[in-house]
Amino acid sequence: MITTVEDLPPELAASASPEEKNYIAEIQRRGLLPFAVTPHFASLAGPEQDDPIRRQFFPDPCEAAPDPCALDDPLGEYRFRAAPRLVHQYRDRALLLASGACAGYCRHCFRRVWIATASPIDGEDLQPALAYLAAHPEIREVLVSGGDPLTLDNAGLSDVLRRLRNARPGILLRVCTRVPITEPLRVDGETVALFAAFRPLRLAVQINHPRELSAPGCAALAACVSAGIPVHIQTVLLRGINDNPALLAQLFRDCLDLGLSPYYLFQMDLAPGTAHFRVPLKQGLAIYRELGGLISGLGLPAYALDLPGGGGKIRLHENVIAGEKTAAAGNMYVLKDSTGSEWYYPTTNT
Ligand code: SF4
Repeated sequence: MITTVEDLPPELAASASPEEKNYIAEIQRRGLLPFAVTPHFASLAGPEQDDPIRRQFFPDPCEAAPDPCALDDPLGEYRFRAAPRLVHQYRDRALLLASGACAGYCRHCFRRVWIATASPIDGEDLQPALAYLAAHPEIREVLVSGGDPLTLDNAGLSDVLRRLRNARPGILLRVCTRVPITEPLRVDGETVALFAAFRPLRLAVQINHPRELSAPGCAALAACVSAGIPVHIQTVLLRGINDNPALLAQLFRDCLDLGLSPYYLFQMDLAPGTAHFRVPLKQGLAIYRELGGLISGLGLPAYALDLPGGGGKIRLHENVIAGEKTAAAGNMYVLKDSTGSEWYYPTTNT
């Protein structure tokens, strides 16, 4: 991984402003979400400060701006911790935080506060999660996430998947990763065979921009599809990066051509330091409406939001907004979930 400006490709290194360099030093000093990018992902970036790949990994001093809406745990995952590394929020599925590391860090990451301090999973952490899964047959699916589980080597990943499978034979495993995009050569033949060996298994891969689909990334994803591994795409709606219906339509068409299934388009969570990436909700709804006219249903992901503070995932549409109110953190939309409970999401990102 590249962790200093000096180690970036020369054009990118030269593009770093004094403010960006100072902010990277501040990140290190304060132990915030690290600056780290793979040489592969850095090679996809242009030197312009608004380049859509550069912005996803290059720390922006805007991250330090006060955001009264920010939540350290935006999805409320701590409320649903059933074991130190297991989150059980939805009846039929659970989330295993299998690694605290990623192959490079996305500046829009919603788990950024946890990731900055997390350690790799070990047997001691895994055991209570396995015991919980064995005692809860209503759980039919485990999302293996983190961080990124593909930062484990194949032996480590195989060990985690095998222990999950032994605890609950037949359970569906969903491996959530960005590695096929950020470090595609990590997904070698052995990794693909490993996925195939642990079926039923699906991959959920975050892809935010058509330029992320490099030749090696496409090859890695195509190898998974050829091996019979369903691959679902999750995209984060990011201001100035992909907040454009035509660009999103291109991304999802490219994904369909590779045999990948667009699954979710996420409205940004309220993680600290990410307000500058947030597309205002009404604009997001307008983008999604237009996107629906540009692409067939096969390529149209669900537009969704994890309700801030632990309300769970909802599909976004105009009728979800029940009104507006002024709160201490600013103007908020009032969102209603399927039970009629009210949740709040900022009307703007400032
Ligand atoms: S790969 Fe996922 S978990 Fe890791 S920094 Fe990016 S968004 Fe966060």
